[in-house]
Amino acid sequence: LVFCFWIALANAEYTIYQDPKQPIGKRVKDLLGRMTLDEKIGQMTQIDRTVASAEVVQKYYIGSVLSGGGSVPSPTASAETWIDMVNGFQKGALSTRLKIPMLYGIDAVHGHNGVYKATIFPHNIGLGATRDPQLVKRIGAATALEVRATGIPYAFAPCIAVCRDPRWGRCYESYSEDPKIVRAMTEIIPGLQGDIPANSQKGVPFLAGQQKVLASAKHFVGDGGTTKGINENNTVSSRHELLSIHMPAYYDSIIKGVGTVMISYSSWNGIKMHANRDLITGFLKNKLRFRGFVISDWQGIDRITSPPHANYTYSIIAGVNAGIDMIMVPYNYTEFINGLTFLVKNNFIPMSRIDDAVERILRVKFTIGLFEHPLADYSMIKYLGSHEHRQLAREAVRKSLVLLKNGESADKPLLPLPKKASKILVAGTHADNIGNQCGGWTIQWQGQTGNITVGTTILTAIKNTLHSNTEVVFSESPGSGYLKSNKFSYAIVVVGEPPYSETYGDSGNLTLPDPGPSIITNVCATVKCVVVLITGRPVVIQPYLAQIDALVAAWLPGTEGQGVADVLFGDYGFSGKLSRTWFKTVDQLPINVGDRDYDPLFPFGYGLTTQPVKAN
Ligand code: BGC
Repeated sequence: LVFCFWIALANAEYTIYQDPKQPIGKRVKDLLGRMTLDEKIGQMTQIDRTVASAEVVQKYYIGSVLSGGGSVPSPTASAETWIDMVNGFQKGALSTRLKIPMLYGIDAVHGHNGVYKATIFPHNIGLGATRDPQLVKRIGAATALEVRATGIPYAFAPCIAVCRDPRWGRCYESYSEDPKIVRAMTEIIPGLQGDIPANSQKGVPFLAGQQKVLASAKHFVGDGGTTKGINENNTVSSRHELLSIHMPAYYDSIIKGVGTVMISYSSWNGIKMHANRDLITGFLKNKLRFRGFVISDWQGIDRITSPPHANYTYSIIAGVNAGIDMIMVPYNYTEFINGLTFLVKNNFIPMSRIDDAVERILRVKFTIGLFEHPLADYSMIKYLGSHEHRQLAREAVRKSLVLLKNGESADKPLLPLPKKASKILVAGTHADNIGNQCGGWTIQWQGQTGNITVGTTILTAIKNTLHSNTEVVFSESPGSGYLKSNKFSYAIVVVGEPPYSETYGDSGNLTLPDPGPSIITNVCATVKCVVVLITGRPVVIQPYLAQIDALVAAWLPGTEGQGVADVLFGDYGFSGKLSRTWFKTVDQLPINVGDRDYDPLFPFGYGLTTQPVKAN
């Protein structure tokens, strides 16, 4: 009896898994060996913050909580509010028997986009146009600091989709139609997570410390290849095409130590990716030797059946047996937990599969130092929306702009514009609108038009840039009488798409939304005009091209509109190159570089340049 007492005491004092000096493999094994089935299944469950509480996290041993769809406690929640919320859930996890910390995740896809006052960087389509992976890496590092500033260690980024059809509502989340560019831009991963040491074992997740965040390469695989760009639909292709277009960026991500991979809602040749054991377990885990964890998309296993949730037992079997380790927001988490428990106890899902899942989740949690640093403090708040990060975003905006037309001919360029003019017109729905400039995934899932966060609109940027004796007149949609009765030196027309995300952004016709076309037509008929497009993708522009004197694709630049003015007025030159093909008419779609009868309006890689002007 005395002997047993001593053993018990020794155990209470020392556990391998709680000892940071022990190798991660040993800690994982030790902890896994102590866990009950309930505790294991809890680790595999990720619930939304809106249904989470310390009590729920504690009761069900919940492994992870998220801000689904970037869901925020309130649209202007402070960093302190975020930290307190995350720590609150964490206290629930830390009061469980084994004290396994929960992992909080959020969509930080163009900066820490759910958080008021954060720096919002250009969406990926614009970053693709910079052709500058080192810039994208710096953006990753800045994003990591801002995410950590709010107490969050995990970002559902990057999206490494290769968008092959701009009708897809998520095309702007893709760096390019060209897999080579997407591969290069996986440099964002070492930006987010830190540089993996040279001697690391391939496929093992990595994180460089508490100023970095865990990343998630998404959406595995073929999300950008669906027929007609319909979101969450079917990608029809040969295995060769899948492996050569959509898969390569996953190799790079894994080599760079990405900690997690998120599964795509889409299907490949009719099989839902969430149920594709061959690609998840066979290819990703076994062949590519990915050792991090695989996470489902939001209610992704529910959507294995259509309608979603039609046969939940089947969905759980198919998804978990396919190799998904963490289930993001099961439709109903208690139903999921009970269902999975039943299926394991009745041998529909082998215990070895559960152990594989939990081993991976624990490995990631140990790797990122979560056991040693489960609770965040306020010390990093200074990074949120810092001056340095805004300067970086401004640089990214400058480099992302693609000049598609510049005056009648090369010897009569309109841009750069002179800073000394007596009176200029700024027009358009997107000229003075931070929300429109940022697009989807900003404060809200769908984004929102208007004054939603802190930043510089393009109108303000133009005013900042021009000499004080230049009169800048803003009229969103000026009538022709007004235009004729004023003597404007030139006009800058900023129009584009409203914010959208995911399926809401799918478009069959890709027309430039109203009143964009009429503003262009009215203004350009009377005044020399530069049209700046704020869109998540190429749109129908050919019908207006003849009227437009200069045309700039600015994509979805984010909060730092100053970058647009920097280039329009020649403080910097235009250098961006199309990361996508600009089609003439939608019936050409899909159209991608390398196609046999390639006949675009502006080819992939196109982009005119200008030189910076001294003392303009
Ligand atoms: C999206 C993912 C995102 C997740 C969590 C899903 O709807 O497809 O990209 O990470 O929601 O917000």
